[in-house]
Amino acid sequence: MLEARESFGGVTSGVRISAKGVRVLEKIGIHNIGENTEKLVMYFGTKHIKFDVKNEKDASPAILVTRLAVFEKLRERINELGINIIYKYKLDNVIENADNVVAVSSDGKKIQGKYLVGADGVGSKVRSLLNAGGTSEKRYAGYLGLGFIYPSDEKIEMSLFNILNGNIGLGSIGKISPDDTCNNNFLWAHIHMSEAEAKAISDKEVFERIAERAKGWTPHLRQVFQEIKANPKTILYHQPVYNGNLPSKWFNDRLFLIGDAAHPYGPGGQGISLAMLDAEALCSLFTNELTEEKKINFQITRAAIAKEKGESSEERNKPENQITSNFGLWWKGVFMKGFHLFSGGKIEL
Ligand SMILES: Cc1cc2nc3c(=O)[nH]c(=O)nc-3n(C[C@H](O)[C@H](O)[C@H](O)COP(=O)(O)OP(=O)(O)OC[C@H]3O[C@@H](n4cnc5c(N)ncnc54)[C@H](O)[C@@H]3O)c2cc1C
Repeated sequence: MLEARESFGGVTSGVRISAKGVRVLEKIGIHNIGENTEKLVMYFGTKHIKFDVKNEKDASPAILVTRLAVFEKLRERINELGINIIYKYKLDNVIENADNVVAVSSDGKKIQGKYLVGADGVGSKVRSLLNAGGTSEKRYAGYLGLGFIYPSDEKIEMSLFNILNGNIGLGSIGKISPDDTCNNNFLWAHIHMSEAEAKAISDKEVFERIAERAKGWTPHLRQVFQEIKANPKTILYHQPVYNGNLPSKWFNDRLFLIGDAAHPYGPGGQGISLAMLDAEALCSLFTNELTEEKKINFQITRAAIAKEKGESSEERNKPENQITSNFGLWWKGVFMKGFHLFSGGKIEL
């Protein structure tokens, strides 16, 4: 495994991994991380609607978890399997030969292998090498993604607070890492702003922007924000969010793309699961039969799913699609109540 970063430590964020992703984690041998999310509670002012999150029979539910907790478990499994991770290796070029492939780092280090899988995220180098001159560059989604992880033993079901000019998510997330001494909760939000602002914004400014917004929140949410501000152990994580187009080429003779490298994808609660399901599908090609037809089929089927999920999340999060009037909020509440009745109280996430 070639990784540009120095380590997987540092400030962490929270994520939701859908049930399909949890199934792949379990297949890898990773169990019992984060907190299960079997319900979604949607708030409209002080009223709420509670959904059961749809799940396949006997499957484990989706989870809320910190990225660090997932990394630590993956690292354990990688060690058990004897896989070597080479950190500080920034891939810069790839040379494909008839019977091998050579990775070249930005400082000229060469490593040879049989195949190279580009799982290098939204700004993928491997994608740009496979699609020279293509239009697969990442593009700014129009907002900053942010989250606070704060120590708390209060069990909170995954909740979505529908609020004018910006929804808030909240839920229990478990331990930040195995040696953490307490449980934690996670509050997440988006702030729409320019890309330059999102790149430059400081932690202090993020706190100020959220404090300003919190003036319009319910007393319960304001109380949560007080706890977040008062606790010195609170972790704040923020970053500009990017989307992107599906590139036309996902593979060559010895190169493959998976995850955000194949289908750049912002927050929406599916990106991690999609990346793991891509990896599972590619493993099945490697362990069965790697024909041209199967490679084409891999790209077509995985791309169709990523496009559908990615476009709906992009649409939902666009600045122009946020609710900006009390009537809009009221209408969404009525619509969700109707949906709750119609779906028997179940929702697919
Ligand atoms: C604010 C935010 C919130 C999100 N929340 C959720 C969520 O709740 N649930 C969810 O499912 N998804 C969420 N996502 C999306 C999710 O993070 C991605 O879809 C997922 O991480 C993609 O995984 P990946 O392995 O393809 O890429 P990444 O997780 O981006 O990993 C790519 C890796 O490649 C390394 N790398 C990059 N370039 C090079 C290079 N040249 N050489 C070597 N290594 C390189 C990087 O350092 C990184 O370790 C969120 C995204 C954002 C931005």
